[in-house]
Amino acid sequence: MVEAKKYKIIYDREGCIGAAACAAVNAKDWEIVEDGKANLLQSKEVSKGVWERIITAPELKAHLDAAESCPVRVIKIIDLETGKQLYP
Ligand code: SF4
Repeated sequence: MVEAKKYKIIYDREGCIGAAACAAVNAKDWEIVEDGKANLLQSKEVSKGVWERIITAPELKAHLDAAESCPVRVIKIIDLETGKQLYP
């Protein structure tokens, strides 16, 4: 049986400058809200200003696009199987 690969998105919302690039490339998962910053949809705040969400392989591409678009690199992606940081 092949386990579905999982990844963790770690979003440092404190560092977000509201450039909106993430939401422009991935509107399904990122939304700009009232304070001008982005929210990662379906995520949980794990410590002050840090939000996390677990995703599966089919969702990875869209999240990588968002992470790569962010000018201040506040979106991290970790491969939960290897523990390797995929981005940045
Ligand atoms: S691209 Fe980065 S800085 Fe811009 S809104 Fe998204 S998370 Fe914030």
